[in-house]
Amino acid sequence: MYCPLCQAEYKPEIKHCADCNVTLVETLPLELPLEEIKWISVGTLQGKIYADMIAEILKKEGIAHYIKSDVLTATFNISGLGSTGGRVKLFVPENKLALARDILAGLIN
Ligand SMILES: [Zn+2]
Repeated sequence: MYCPLCQAEYKPEIKHCADCNVTLVETLPLELPLEEIKWISVGTLQGKIYADMIAEILKKEGIAHYIKSDVLTATFNISGLGSTGGRVKLFVPENKLALARDILAGLIN
């Protein structure tokens, strides 16, 4: 058992922290720092406009994400239709990968 305030560890039969006068909990809540997030690529997207559209969908679903553009093709970005748009890689946290793939099924390959 742990005290949620002072984080002291107690024997299982103890129910209250004598110092803080609060009920003990079985596990301390884990706070994962941002650096601990493992980013996984969902796939490669063709063109920034398309990537922005996907990003908008993920935002609505509350899924953190980031987009990494191909530097070379971004520099020589040609607007318009066709396959000339830059290649963009989409990343989501590892724990949201399955959800993101579900949502984006059929949208990206
Ligand atoms: Zn305490």
